[in-house]
Amino acid sequence: FLPQEIIRKKRDGGTLSAEEIRFFVRGIPGGEVTEGQIAALAMAVYFNDMDMDERVAFTLAMRDSGQVLEWKSMDLPGPVLDKHSTGGVGDVVSLMLGPMIAACGGFVPMISGRGLGHTGGTLDKFDSIPGYSTVPDPALLRRVVKEVGVAIIGQTAQLAPADKRFYSIRDTTATVESVAMITGSILSKKLAAGLDALVMDVKVGNGAFMPSYQKSVELAESIVSVGNGAGTRTSAILTGMDESLCHAAGNAVEVRVAIDYLSGKARPARLHEVTMALCAEMLVISGLAAGDAAARARLQAALDSGAAAERFARMVAALGGPADLMDKPDAYLETAPVIVPAPSLQAGYASAVDTRGLGLAVVALGGGRVRPQDTIDFAVGLTGLVELGDTIAAGQPLAMVHARSREAAAQAVRQVQAAYRIGADKPAAAPMIYRTIR
Ligand code: URA
Repeated sequence: FLPQEIIRKKRDGGTLSAEEIRFFVRGIPGGEVTEGQIAALAMAVYFNDMDMDERVAFTLAMRDSGQVLEWKSMDLPGPVLDKHSTGGVGDVVSLMLGPMIAACGGFVPMISGRGLGHTGGTLDKFDSIPGYSTVPDPALLRRVVKEVGVAIIGQTAQLAPADKRFYSIRDTTATVESVAMITGSILSKKLAAGLDALVMDVKVGNGAFMPSYQKSVELAESIVSVGNGAGTRTSAILTGMDESLCHAAGNAVEVRVAIDYLSGKARPARLHEVTMALCAEMLVISGLAAGDAAARARLQAALDSGAAAERFARMVAALGGPADLMDKPDAYLETAPVIVPAPSLQAGYASAVDTRGLGLAVVALGGGRVRPQDTIDFAVGLTGLVELGDTIAAGQPLAMVHARSREAAAQAVRQVQAAYRIGADKPAAAPMIYRTIR
């Protein structure tokens, strides 16, 4: 094969064979295929798409471009499971979901990512816990998954290296927005964790990565077909992202939400609904529960008995974090020096919120990155976010802003005020769970 002939075939609307796709992808990490060739193929795929067979071959080739974790030889007494989300604001689900699934008999080697654009990243949230290692050596990862049932860590350079190079070229050549390539990119990294089953949380709404409901459905259907085609039981749930998923957005502030949720101190309704739906689907498709009702009963028991909280505490300690984080979060999680309210300028109902705008306010405070090499300020963010449908008086806070300086706080206050629309009519409640695709 020649890379240019493969590009030509796709440019002219042809269907690539699995061999052609494997040949091309194999040349990506080591540089045998040039940056120009990768960009050209990406643009050809952007316009001419890939069918499901091509997507499966592409996903598997990217997965196999590096290390694939293997659990069979460990004889774990339960299935290896994970969840992945397309990303959102205030989406702290992974921090609770991993320990909840572990408490119900699943094993969760969760390779999570950093914040992207306006969305938060699970890895950044864990980095706000002092001592917690998001890059453990492979032996420690295996031991923690086996003994605790869950380890939430970051991607190593060995996992799906073809995607790393491919994605960075797509990012700079206007070729990210292709369902075929997004499917391969997400799944290659997740399947490299050696999963038996995967549940995908595809967000819908003005804080979502996909620009419309229809596009979210298209991505969910593609991921479900390709994941199953690649041999991993995969389903997807479309969930709402028309406001922050919980009342906080940031890093340390979201870790506190997760701790309060697991300890039973506070379980915000929308966050609980989405977390339970994703967890229940994981238990059902992996065979750990006979049906949705049985799954939910087990999950609720794992929360109420403290079993899920205990898994979280053990995971944090096993990966180098403080053993008493759950009891004394304030002793470990950084707080911001400036905490001020963002007062509402009007009275009425919170009728809409620009979720992306809230995410960008957190990034501007230093809670996310503008460039990949930027460092994160774990302490900053938003708390007490008013929910859609709440009534508010003029001067009451829409949120509390946690900032490093007075200037940064003042800017975030303006961004929060601009993000909320306050109206005279109570808005219709948007669903949190739109659809499950199996
Ligand atoms: N996230 C990924 O990991 N890959 C994509 O292509 C898009 C979002």
